Amino acid sequence: MIVSLRELLTDADRRGYAIGAFNCLSQENVMGAIRAAEDLRSPLILQLAEVQFPEAPLAMMAPLFLGAAERAKVPVCVHLDHGLSLETCIKAIRLGFTSVMLDASALPYEENLKATMEISRIAKAAGVDVEAELGHVGDCGVDTADVFTEVEQAVDFVSQTGIDALAVAIGNLHGHYIATPQLNIKRLNEIHEAVSLPLVLHGGSGTSVEDFKACLKGGICKINVATAIQLEATKQIQHYLATAEKPAYIPMKRVIEKASYEVICQHMELFESNNKA
Ligand SMILES: [Zn+2]
Repeated sequence: MIVSLRELLTDADRRGYAIGAFNCLSQENVMGAIRAAEDLRSPLILQLAEVQFPEAPLAMMAPLFLGAAERAKVPVCVHLDHGLSLETCIKAIRLGFTSVMLDASALPYEENLKATMEISRIAKAAGVDVEAELGHVGDCGVDTADVFTEVEQAVDFVSQTGIDALAVAIGNLHGHYIATPQLNIKRLNEIHEAVSLPLVLHGGSGTSVEDFKACLKGGICKINVATAIQLEATKQIQHYLATAEKPAYIPMKRVIEKASYEVICQHMELFESNNKA
């Protein structure tokens, strides 16, 4: 069934677990995600980022996500990840997404605040929830010095924008970590204490188990996972092509679905969202 982001995160916040938000670029990814959520009785967030639109166009993925979510036996939220403009967020809202993230985190604080207030007002009017990012989560291999979320700014930002979830920058990065990252859990705890809002961790692929567990205690209720799914699918396709007697397309689709399923199950257990739906 389709549910709102706020509804999912409120329960996660109350019970101290996090919900995996899995970037799905194909039908195989979506099928694997839904099967994982149903088998583990876990809530699920299906999401797509604007940078992924060239391979997975928004207007084509929307009916796939929504159709899968409607039919699912567990609560599923359909989320736009990293919308880069107001226009993209509005398109997603019109297509039926239940929540959107406007990422204006690369802009100076005042501009991020202004843009987020604007999308918040529009989304609220449409009954759609909003995630925004403060501080800046960079990309592995591109950004080295990360801009951490500041506590006082977070308090001001949350109260002025009325957002439903806040993505924090605490040493996390997007993509494939070369070394396991060290998250600034002290900063996370300070933010958590200061703002009473579900927090979001981006760049969830490759974080240590200890840091994940500390995040659950520190108010992180949504964890984004994209890279881990792609790495595992690639690995299993390579294995399939190297070992199958007669490689064929349909079995390969099943390999992608199985790899997605396995990675998503692992993360749901790690985030303790299993048996919560
Ligand atoms: Zn992100």
